[in-house]
Amino acid sequence: IEEAKIRYKAPIVCILGHVDTGKTKLLDKIRRTNVQASEAGGITQQIGATMFPADAIETLTQKLPNLSLSIDVPGLLIIDTPGHESFSNLRSRGSSLCNIGILVVDIMHGLENQTIESLSIFKTKNIPFIVALNKIDRLYEWSPSKDEAFLTTFNKQSGHVQSEFMRRAKETILEFNHKGYNAALYYENPDPEEYISLVPTSAITGEGIPDMLGLILNIAQTKLRSSIIYQPKLEATVMEVKTIEGLGTTIDVILMNGVIKEDDNIIVSGFNGPISTRVRALLTPMPLREMRVKGEYLHHKALRASMGVKISAQGLDHTMAGSPLFIAKNEEEIPRLQEEVQKEITEIFKSINNKDKGVHVQASTVGSLEALLEFLKQSKIPVSSINIGPVFKKDIMKAQTQIEKGNEKQYATVMAFDVKITPEAQEYADSCGVKIISDNIIFHLFDRFTKYVEDIRK
Ligand code: GDP
Ligand code: MG
Repeated sequence: IEEAKIRYKAPIVCILGHVDTGKTKLLDKIRRTNVQASEAGGITQQIGATMFPADAIETLTQKLPNLSLSIDVPGLLIIDTPGHESFSNLRSRGSSLCNIGILVVDIMHGLENQTIESLSIFKTKNIPFIVALNKIDRLYEWSPSKDEAFLTTFNKQSGHVQSEFMRRAKETILEFNHKGYNAALYYENPDPEEYISLVPTSAITGEGIPDMLGLILNIAQTKLRSSIIYQPKLEATVMEVKTIEGLGTTIDVILMNGVIKEDDNIIVSGFNGPISTRVRALLTPMPLREMRVKGEYLHHKALRASMGVKISAQGLDHTMAGSPLFIAKNEEEIPRLQEEVQKEITEIFKSINNKDKGVHVQASTVGSLEALLEFLKQSKIPVSSINIGPVFKKDIMKAQTQIEKGNEKQYATVMAFDVKITPEAQEYADSCGVKIISDNIIFHLFDRFTKYVEDIRK
């Protein structure tokens, strides 16, 4: 088993779902278990992620009556969900880096708008996932048994609570059916290849969390075996770009494969072209108990995947979140990697920019731009130009060309997704008749555009 733990990397787990379903709370709950188990288990808080080691999972899953697991991965690396504002955004970049997903659904609400969006992200990126049917403690007269396995607590509930649970679970399963998915409670699942597994959970009482982690681990160690073999070839993604007092601009990176070292020559994509620089410091947070010490980080000479890491280096100011990160072995490799790092962006720009007729689209990252473009395509809204980053006057001028060309008024619009609008840009737009529609939820942008078109018609 020890050997296996070196052979495999920790599977990377992403949590997606509609707002307020309990994504953050579930993570908190897992982490708290972690704090309690920290003496034994050693769960560690990483940058943008939490490492839940095999030992700690083992302790928890011992509560499961009918699942015996032999754990041979080092643990699970669970990506932390960001706040509301950038949440649509992380969903698209986050899921391309994850091996396995948890889709959180509120048992009291069933499927919601962003549940559907998350489903399609998992589907298009071919990521296996389970559903956490969360907030079971909110069922009327539910009697909680803290941190217990689901069936243990379920069997203790009174008859009417049990039937209320079954009614709601069945309703959710029907909703999945209507969207074209088979789904079943995980312990009744006739064929996990065909049916999505639903795990009832409560992020407040911890009920069902052993089941959730056990199931994730089970999938990782069976279906995903080959994709979690540790690869020495570096694979890393920039999650966030942050300014930290005393460190300047830093990037938070998820290391999916390979090793990163101090002084490595890294290449990332930037708003003004590729950036290449040397790693000044590789940082992770202090162990949980010392987390309150502000601004304190542990320094490392080298780190191995899977891992969340903060990198401090010169010249990172204009790094684009969502960018891949490469390491050049020597100076000669740099130009090729610079081209490679911008490739994805260059291709998107080539496919769209300077089309005759359509709105101007602006988003915060490549991932969110792609998601938005795909959505606009489905919604049959033409796009004439795109950009990434905050909206400046020059971006408004691109939309303004639609007026000059004599195209329909609605195309003189900037669709801004999860980005800031500079005051000069707003002022210029107001003065030249360009409409700015700004939101951080994709389908809100669509609704507002549709309404704007109707208003113009009237
Ligand atoms: P997110 O937007 O998906 O990250 O949702 P949060 O984790 O912020 O939770 C939204 C709200 O639901 C908060 O008020 C939580 O306390 C509450 N909540 C989350 N999970 C549960 C649960 O399992 N049971 C109950 N009763 N409340 C929950
Ligand atoms: Mg949250």
